[in-house]
Amino acid sequence: MTTRAVVALGSNLGDRAAWLVMAHAAISLLPSTSIVAASSIEETAPVGGSAQGPYLNQMLDLACALAPLALLEALQAIERRLGRVRRARWGARTIDLDLVRYGTTAMQSRVLTLPHPGLATRAFWRRELAELDAMSRRVE
Ligand code: ATP
Ligand code: CA
Ligand code: CA
Repeated sequence: MTTRAVVALGSNLGDRAAWLVMAHAAISLLPSTSIVAASSIEETAPVGGSAQGPYLNQMLDLACALAPLALLEALQAIERRLGRVRRARWGARTIDLDLVRYGTTAMQSRVLTLPHPGLATRAFWRRELAELDAMSRRVE
């Protein structure tokens, strides 16, 4: 059974557009996962205090048969492969992959909170999500 999972991509270091393309390619190669739709790419100011450059963001809609934690681990492995150095939370990074939504799953733990709490405060996520929802309604 596949579940519709939504992943937010963000990059604010180096060739940001290229990191988004590479993350897209890596996600498309995950087992039991296919990319159903991609939102437009949007530039936003960084979240959190530290001085750093603006982000490029994009959201992907997946049909995924991996369990939520397995998907999160796969996304973190891609982050590591694409050269992300984990420093301060919200610090600059080549690529950040957040699991925004996994079907209707609601959970809260140290490693995974669903839906991602950032949805409440990040208007650009809600915009991108609305874009994906509109696309999926067209294909249903
Ligand atoms: P934010 O999550 O507020 O956007 P961030 O992306 O900068 O901040 P990270 O340093 O990338 O935060 O991640 C911190 C931890 O958040 C990760 O180790 C991960 O286990 C946890 N986490 C909890 N819920 C989620 C989720 N829905 N998607 C991704 N990571 C999550
Ligand atoms: Ca994030
Ligand atoms: Ca993250």
